[in-house]
Amino acid sequence: MAKTEETPLEDLDPFVVSTLRFERARSHLDGLKQGLVEFFEVPKRTVSVCFPVEMEDGSVRTFYGYRVLHNHVMGPGKGGIRYHPEVTVREVASLAALMTWKCALVRVPFGGAKGGVVCDTKDLSATDLRRITRRYIHELGDNIGPHTDIPAPDLYTDEQTMAWIFDTYDLMHPGHNNRPVVTGKPKDIGGSEGRFEATGQGCFLATTRFLEIEPLAGLTKIAGASVAIQGFGNVGAVAAKAFRDAGAHVVAVSDSQGGVYNPAGLNLEAVAAHKDAHGTVVGTPETRTISNEELLELSCDILIPAALGNQIHQGNADSVKAKLVVEAANGPVTPIADDILNKRGVVVLPDIVANAGGVTVSYMEWVQNIENEEWVLERITDELQRKIGRAVDAVVACWRGLNAADEAEETTQDEAGKLPVDLRTAALVVAIRRVAHATLQRGIWP
Ligand code: NAD
Repeated sequence: MAKTEETPLEDLDPFVVSTLRFERARSHLDGLKQGLVEFFEVPKRTVSVCFPVEMEDGSVRTFYGYRVLHNHVMGPGKGGIRYHPEVTVREVASLAALMTWKCALVRVPFGGAKGGVVCDTKDLSATDLRRITRRYIHELGDNIGPHTDIPAPDLYTDEQTMAWIFDTYDLMHPGHNNRPVVTGKPKDIGGSEGRFEATGQGCFLATTRFLEIEPLAGLTKIAGASVAIQGFGNVGAVAAKAFRDAGAHVVAVSDSQGGVYNPAGLNLEAVAAHKDAHGTVVGTPETRTISNEELLELSCDILIPAALGNQIHQGNADSVKAKLVVEAANGPVTPIADDILNKRGVVVLPDIVANAGGVTVSYMEWVQNIENEEWVLERITDELQRKIGRAVDAVVACWRGLNAADEAEETTQDEAGKLPVDLRTAALVVAIRRVAHATLQRGIWP
């Protein structure tokens, strides 16, 4: 759909988007009690903090941060912390809800949570970041903990941030095994083998399994497929390598400054080396520079948005040429874009399963920390493959079932022209059903 003056602008308020998606799934969940609907739509707890930091240059700045616990029926809250200038409490709340459904889908015993601090890491020194992190964690106090709410990395936070979080919490709670308070730590202080690679690797495993059980017209396997990836951070760079190693041609990658393209396939080592040396992938030898917008519209088989939310929207969904969009980032496809792609037969493998590898290996790190054990990489990789494969199978089975039911209904109700149920809705149906069942099985207090 071309954006015209008559086309109403899409409401991209993150909380509106997650509620809309929940409601869409709910329409397939006969018998979900109204009280549970409200309980699932609203976060259980929202903590907002505001704190001053004395910066390395001697100035003082005030920062705002959030931590939202959406639901803890399945276990303690789990979810990343992002540092970004556009963080809002509504964005954090919607991402926390997504974590509830993601954890239920991959069957890790956590509820959903998320955190964020409004800041631009590009303007901050390592000392500034350490001070912001320590103060934010101190302000959150006992709202996080190894058995209550466990943070992890997300946009512009990394192993170093997680090390500072652990250290701060540990100083606040001496005499306990505090390693399980945060995952995504450096290996020397309890980080897990395979955690750094987990999200990108999980994205690759989910795509592989999906194509095995649901081959698409003109795209039946990863070997030989052309792949474009928006973002070359933790998730994008690892996913690029995994797809390339499986025989795909990674033709384009990008970062916040732009993208690089080579139709014969990029030399990813050269791209990474150029980014290390110059801070961007743009300018890598033997590549053509493209914009992030162009990357999304490239002719390719698989498009993997692995950067920010709302990248494929009402204005560009019609121009996406890929056969399969794999959401490595959280929420890169908007609801109207979902429908446009669905109508055009472009399949979207949604974030809830495509990037669930991160939380799956985070769970394994947490178990290792509780047991004071270290697992070998093979054990982690096998378990990741099993859990992601099982989640993809559950989503596809539900998807087929919902569409078969809709088709049967259409013949009786003459609803021809209705869009098929998409994979996102099916994934949410599986997850919401599980959490609703567990809530009632536990017995609602009192
Ligand atoms: P990161 O900070 O390591 O990398 C982010 C990448 O996005 C960088 O390459 C950056 O340059 C790029 N980018 C930033 N602004 C951009 C723009 N305007 N256009 C194009 N690219 C831009 O973050 P990450 O950990 O790789 O996370 C990426 C996405 O994956 C996020 O949506 C995050 O929520 C999601 N995610 C991450 C994890 C994890 O374990 N790290 C788990 C699940 C989901």
